[in-house]
Amino acid sequence: MSRFWSPVVHSLSPYVPGEQPKRDDVVKLNTNENPFGPSPRVLAAITAEATDRLRLYPDPHASRLRDAIAARYGVAADQVFVGNGSDEVLAHTFQALLAHDAPLLFPDITYSFYPVYCGLYGIAYEEVPVDDGMRVRIGDYRRPCGAIILPNPNAPTGIGLAGDAIAALAGDHPDQVVVIDEAYVDFGADSAVPLVARHDNLLVIQTFSKSRSLAGLRVGFAIGQRPLIEALERVKDSFNSYPLDRLAIAGAVAAVEDDGWFQETRTRIMGNRDALAGALGNLGFEVLPSQANFLFARHPRHAGADLAARLRDRGVLVRHFQKPRIEDFLRITVGTDDQCHRLLEELRRLVHPAGASKS
Ligand SMILES: *Cc1c(COP(=O)(O)O)cnc(C)c1O
Repeated sequence: MSRFWSPVVHSLSPYVPGEQPKRDDVVKLNTNENPFGPSPRVLAAITAEATDRLRLYPDPHASRLRDAIAARYGVAADQVFVGNGSDEVLAHTFQALLAHDAPLLFPDITYSFYPVYCGLYGIAYEEVPVDDGMRVRIGDYRRPCGAIILPNPNAPTGIGLAGDAIAALAGDHPDQVVVIDEAYVDFGADSAVPLVARHDNLLVIQTFSKSRSLAGLRVGFAIGQRPLIEALERVKDSFNSYPLDRLAIAGAVAAVEDDGWFQETRTRIMGNRDALAGALGNLGFEVLPSQANFLFARHPRHAGADLAARLRDRGVLVRHFQKPRIEDFLRITVGTDDQCHRLLEELRRLVHPAGASKS
């Protein structure tokens, strides 16, 4: 606290990201990063871009990247907005499209950055409870509101909604913006991108951080009809004209173009996820059905905080949220085969201390 702070800074409760340990001998399953590296073509493209040209500002419109994304997703380049990570795209979206007199709606169990942005931009919101199975019920959103945002699949539950549910949600609210945060959609859920042509109120946001293994490059994007994209451009050009640097543009273009790498790594992650879910079930965990690159699981006899702390002592990081309804859950990123084995080995000792070698 300081007398120099503005009133809004006094009022903020900033987002606390998952731990990034200094040591690299830990099994890091806490921030949903991709355990497989980015495509070698991405690394080559970034290296090729690291030249004397770095003295020049990048293209403020990142046109090469918007063209590549547009071609990949079958939309026009002017229906694509890119930003410095989808967190930046989300921040501009909250300010440009979600700040209205009526409250913004989002699930009570969801990405914890949403209430943080509401605090930053002074947006009133209402949390809509997920059901006892932690599912989003679209019918619960049929109430007066200023706008709606939800991740699909939801985070941190991993549970996805079918495309027709998203279409119904957008159709229920023709005069409100409906934002679908598809950070994890490439791990098996339905994307709402094909719905954008029919719904002028729908904005779909994706990231290169998870399925394209580029969390460190900071690239995200939104797809929507022109008026929504123009709102984001107006905010961006009033804030920072060059959110994507030259290296990020070059790397992200190569990532979009290397579809083989993308398909192979996401398929491996989905396979590891299903195997890990089965193994956790065998250890007595209740595992929510995930369409993401993480699992949300709880054990009937062990508190979540305790399991997370004990795993941490043994060099395995998972995410735990000290929040009502989910305090007994662990959010576990799907890792490589080796990482999943290490996790299971430690959990086996923690949940069956006597018969450590069983199951
Ligand atoms: C990871 C994540 C993001 C942010 O990703 P960036 O790294 O900022 O692109 C956005 N929404 C959800 C739900 C996420 O889990």
